[in-house]
Amino acid sequence: MEDKITRREFLKKCADCGLVLGAVPFVGGLGAVENILNGVTGATGLSNKEASYYKRLSGGSVKCTLCPNYCVLKPGQRGTCRVRDNTNGKLYTRVYGYTARVRGDAMEKGPFFHFLPGTSSVALGTVGCNLQCLYCQNWQFTQIKPEDLKPPPQYLPPASLVSQAKKYGRPTITFTYSEPVVAIEYVLETARLAKQQGIKTLVKTGAYINPEPMKAICKAVDAVNIDFKGYSDSFYRDVCGGKLDPVLEAIKTAHEHAPWLELTAMTVPGKNDSASQFRQQCQWIMKNLGPDVPLHVSRFFPAYRLRNLQATPIDKLRELRKIAYQEGLHYV
Ligand code: SF4
Repeated sequence: MEDKITRREFLKKCADCGLVLGAVPFVGGLGAVENILNGVTGATGLSNKEASYYKRLSGGSVKCTLCPNYCVLKPGQRGTCRVRDNTNGKLYTRVYGYTARVRGDAMEKGPFFHFLPGTSSVALGTVGCNLQCLYCQNWQFTQIKPEDLKPPPQYLPPASLVSQAKKYGRPTITFTYSEPVVAIEYVLETARLAKQQGIKTLVKTGAYINPEPMKAICKAVDAVNIDFKGYSDSFYRDVCGGKLDPVLEAIKTAHEHAPWLELTAMTVPGKNDSASQFRQQCQWIMKNLGPDVPLHVSRFFPAYRLRNLQATPIDKLRELRKIAYQEGLHYV
């Protein structure tokens, strides 16, 4: 990352002031942001914007190159993410400027414990995801088509989103809840406009994305938090519907190009929470990123197709956190 010295100095200053780990009271209420849609929406539905990152093939088919799924779509077909489709030989995104959820969130809920601590962010998500995690906490709108969302997606184009954030005094806009990757056009344009207004843009992502678009996101936004779901290809394949290697590449790309990077490891009992696997995960982080990238060890709650499991025991979180420190990470 470009600002390692600044990062260390900043974190040390935060620690000296007791600003880490959510130790400060939350600054600013969230209520005002609940009104962020006031006066800017009314429209609902689907966008009709041509997508980035695809190739045209013979016979009117297209190949999406945004993520490692590399969907090849005939006219009328939709990608695995459910929000990009081939219409008359062109790939379209159906979620540009259309939100499934908009809220005011404490920065620490991001989780971004080390980025503008104590502030609140305009947090939003669209419909759609290119993974299918069995434990998805927001499956109600990540695992459906936009036209199936009730109530329908709300229109909040980038310029309106930025102007409302400014109006309500929020220093950041965070793309979260679902998968920002599949709404990349929305993210990039919002980040461009937000920068002009002095507002920072953040993304919380599973980073199941190809290198070129990942680099574009990292260069456009101000901070990235990546769900590093487990150091196991079989976990990615069996539980998330993806593969491990592309995520590792995306994490390295973010480390190189994003101004700020944090990682999150959600621990699912019996699936990705073994001490030995987590130790390997921390060793990979140390080897490839160094000790200063913050790692959040987060708790699974029963959801979606893993409702039969218990929530992660707190003692397990403490055990894994201890392992991360043993392996040399500085901010866990
Ligand atoms: S972004 Fe969607 S359409 Fe494109 S390859 Fe990934 S899952 Fe398929």
